[in-house]
Amino acid sequence: MKEPTGYWTFYCNPKRWYIDDFIRSGETEDTFSVSDFHRNYFKEGQFGVIRVGRDKRTLKELAGRNRLQSGVYAIVEILGEPKLMKSTKKGYWAEESDGDKEKYRVPIRYVKTLLDNPVLLEELDLPADAYDQHLVRGQQASTMPLNPLTFHTIIDLIGGYETISLLEKDTLPGEFALDEVILEGAKKHVTVNAYERNPLARKRCLDHYGYNCTVCDFNFYEVYGDIGKDFIHVHHLTELSSIGEEYKVDPIKDLRPVCPNCHAMLHRRKPAYGIEELRGMVK
Ligand SMILES: [Zn+2]
Ligand SMILES: [Zn+2]
Repeated sequence: MKEPTGYWTFYCNPKRWYIDDFIRSGETEDTFSVSDFHRNYFKEGQFGVIRVGRDKRTLKELAGRNRLQSGVYAIVEILGEPKLMKSTKKGYWAEESDGDKEKYRVPIRYVKTLLDNPVLLEELDLPADAYDQHLVRGQQASTMPLNPLTFHTIIDLIGGYETISLLEKDTLPGEFALDEVILEGAKKHVTVNAYERNPLARKRCLDHYGYNCTVCDFNFYEVYGDIGKDFIHVHHLTELSSIGEEYKVDPIKDLRPVCPNCHAMLHRRKPAYGIEELRGMVK
């Protein structure tokens, strides 16, 4: 089995489940059946893409709808772990009885839909390290782990992290309200906070840099065990004054993982200290 990556490809057959109707309905929450051998690897806070293969609907089945081209039609967020259940939605199944089958289904939220401008597989030009053959060539499965770099490349293609509508959360995994305190009084407090708190930009940064503090190398998992797993703050490097209207966060260039102590120290001065600068001060 391909190793889980925390990102998923969901395979959608439009002949059995009318994804075009679902997206047009404006509904955002659903469940998606998962491959049995993957079901223990789905966790809240992961992400995935909905991939449509060949649309083999007959003209009668299409009933005026456009035939879909093979591609990625949505970005989804995983909301929890899979449960053995029937589909919770009616009206999108070609055969209603398909939805009535008890299967392991994972709760998902559509955070961006691409019905009118899908990422077409034949036009998807992936660099070698971001090439995911299961996404591109397809698979006889409900789900497949997705190469994180492929996922991030797709996000870049569809306009970047700012265009994904994630629900506001009070706290994110690996974060708490300290940011509110340390950024208090900062002119663009809310804006900067948003970059440091955007879950997708955070993930991209942490996929790249890992979960050790960039300043002091502290790792919460090593010290606190399980409760410290994946816990870290993310600091935004770009100076507030240089952020214009057109600014787009580049999670690798602009963000760094830092522990809450170092994060607080970085913000002891306005503008904030640099990472190297603070590293030089640590005794
Ligand atoms: Zn630190
Ligand atoms: Zn910061």
